[in-house]
Amino acid sequence: MNSRKAFGYIIDMVLDFFYPPRCPICERYIENRSDILCSECEENILSIDCSHDLRLQIKETWRLTKYKGGTQRIIWDIKFNKKLGELPTIKKILDKALNSNIKLKEMLQKIDLATAVPLHVNRERERGFNQVELIFGEWLNQQNIPMERLLLRIKDTEHLYDKKREERQREVDSAFELAEGAEVHIKGKRILILDDIFTTGTTMSECAKVLKTAGAVEVYGIALASDY
Ligand SMILES: [Zn+2]
Repeated sequence: MNSRKAFGYIIDMVLDFFYPPRCPICERYIENRSDILCSECEENILSIDCSHDLRLQIKETWRLTKYKGGTQRIIWDIKFNKKLGELPTIKKILDKALNSNIKLKEMLQKIDLATAVPLHVNRERERGFNQVELIFGEWLNQQNIPMERLLLRIKDTEHLYDKKREERQREVDSAFELAEGAEVHIKGKRILILDDIFTTGTTMSECAKVLKTAGAVEVYGIALASDY
């Protein structure tokens, strides 16, 4: 062991003694500082799932976690309590997902450009940010995938999470259109749509339709959490 490594090792031991690492989800102590979550949370939350549903116009739709317990609280805290201090935890969860799934990695390598499901301008003004851009921003940056605003939400829809499938469909019908000047960025590209919560897929599907009509060759989707 060289001296720098030994020094790092000692620092870790001291840190573990005074500030034992805790799981960012359940706050239980975790044994190994290099682990991101405790093993229980990892098992409960990480749930990487990919579907190929042609009706959605999306080649691969990925969901990375279950929308319950820890992720539910974190997403809620970011959206409604503006607790942006939770973002590094999400970044760790995303890293964990990426490192545990080679197919997800391969999919990301095909992507030219990513875009978040947009909020209506009124909602974004009220919140101060689009949480989806914050959730995925740094992670995508690390994969060298640019993110741009390609879509606008033109219907100020109600919150969708407690609605039935038919109601959701009605709410998101024609809810999106191209952002000004976006077409030149879309033509011939493989585009990734990002969202925080995936329920029935209607929102992502509506976004995909607009991107396909504007000339995207393939559309992929990633949602942080699945409530399906
Ligand atoms: Zn935990």
